[in-house]
Amino acid sequence: MAEKHDVVIIGAGAAGMMCAIEAGKRGRRVLVLDHAKAPGEKIRISGGGRCNFTNIHAGPKNFLSENPHFCKSALARYRPQDFVALVERHGIAWHEKTLGQLFCDHSAKDIIRMLLAEVQEAGVALRLATAVSAVERVASGFRVTTDDAAVEAASLVVASGGKSIPKMGATGFAYRIAEQFGLPIVETRPALVPLTLDPAQLEKIGELAGVAADAEARCGKAAFREAVLLTHRGLSGPAILQISSYWREGAEIVLRLMPDIDIASILKGMRRTNGRQAAQTALADILPRRLAQFFAEEAKLAGRMLADLSDKAIDALSASVQNWTLRPAGSEGYRTAEVTLGGVDTRALDSRTMQAREVPGLYFIGECVDVTGWLGGYNFQWAWASGFAAGQEV
Ligand code: FAD
Repeated sequence: MAEKHDVVIIGAGAAGMMCAIEAGKRGRRVLVLDHAKAPGEKIRISGGGRCNFTNIHAGPKNFLSENPHFCKSALARYRPQDFVALVERHGIAWHEKTLGQLFCDHSAKDIIRMLLAEVQEAGVALRLATAVSAVERVASGFRVTTDDAAVEAASLVVASGGKSIPKMGATGFAYRIAEQFGLPIVETRPALVPLTLDPAQLEKIGELAGVAADAEARCGKAAFREAVLLTHRGLSGPAILQISSYWREGAEIVLRLMPDIDIASILKGMRRTNGRQAAQTALADILPRRLAQFFAEEAKLAGRMLADLSDKAIDALSASVQNWTLRPAGSEGYRTAEVTLGGVDTRALDSRTMQAREVPGLYFIGECVDVTGWLGGYNFQWAWASGFAAGQEV
C-alpha cells in the first residue's frame, strides 16, 4: 500500500520549501522529497554565502521567458516586501548591497533555518536523501516511487530546479517529468555564466587575467552596467554574467569600459598639460594599469608621447577602449552557470497557479519553469513567488 498525502513536492530548494509552507498552512498534508542530504543547498552557496534573497525592484522586466507576461501574476501576489517581512519576523539581519539587492548580514544558512522553522510549524514532512525513481498517474492523483517506498498524492509539485551545477545534484529531472506528461520544453541553456574566448583571443588578453573594470556590456539590444572581470578562460564579472543570458553562439559582446568617462577629452587635456607622458601612462589614470598597457599596445602607441599623438589617434585609442568588441567562443556551461535558461514551456502552465493546463494536479515551480531572472536576487524572488502561487492551490 502506498503512503497517502495531499501534496507531494519533489525538491526541497527555495521554491519547493515555500510551496510546502504555504500548502501546510492551509492544512494540506504535505510531503517534500529531496535526493540531497540537506535542504536548500543552493541557498547555502548563494550570494557568496550571504544569499541575495530578493531584489526590491523585482518586476516582470527583470525576467527572460518566451512569454514575458507569464510571471506577472505570481510576482504581483508575492512581492519582495513579503519575503522581507518573513525574514524580519525571524530576526534575520539584512542589508541592501547595491541595485536593490538584499543580502543576509551573516549567513545564507539563516534563510535555510528560517524556511525549515516555517516548514516544521506548517506540519510539513521532509524526507531527505530520497531519490525518486518513477512518477505515474493513478486514480487518486500521482504515485511517486522512491528508493524505499511509494507515496501517493492528489497534487504533485515538481520543484527540482534546473541543470546548473550538476556537482550539487542538479539533474534536469523536471524536464523529464514534463516530457513524460506531454508538456513542451523551451530549449535549455546555461545562463548567468562566464563566457569563454578561443585560444587565439586568450593569447592576446592572457596577461589581463584578474583585471576588473567598470563597464557596460552589450549584446544586441541588451546592455548591463556593472563590473567586468577578465579571467584565464575569458570573461566574467556581473556585467558578463548578466549579458550571458542574452548571448548566443557566434554573437559579439561589446564592452564600453569606464562608460561615464569621455576618455578622448581627458587624453587631449593631458596632451596640453603634460604632453611628455607616454600614452599608456596617461591611460592608466583612467583604466587599470594592465588594461592601459594592453590598449596602448593594441593601438601601437605604447611608448609614444601624448604630444606626438594626433586627435585622430587619440579618438581611435579611446574608441578601442569604449567599443571593445569580443566574440566569445562559448560559455563555461552548467558547471558554473548560476541558472538554467528555458525550461517547462509556460504556455502549458496556468500563470496564477503553476498547474499544468492539461494535467490537473501537476505543478511546476521555480527554476525548472521557463522564467529566468537577472543576476541580483531575482531568481530567488521567482522561486518564492511561484512556490507561493502553487502553495495556495495544491
Ligand atoms: P533548487 O534550489 O535548485 O532546488 C531544487 C531541489 O531539488 C534541490 O534541493 C535538489 O537536490 C532537488 N532535486 C533535484 N533533482 C531531484 C530529484 N531527481 N529527486 C529529488 N530531488 C531532486 N539566485 C538569487 O536570486 N540570488 C543569489 O544570490 C543566487 N546565488 C546563486 C549562486 C550560485 C552559485 C548558484 C548556482 C545559483 C544562485 N542563484 C541565486 C540562483 C538560485 O540558487 C536558483 O534560482 C534557485 O535556487 C532555484 O530554486 P529552485 O527551488 O527552483 O531549485
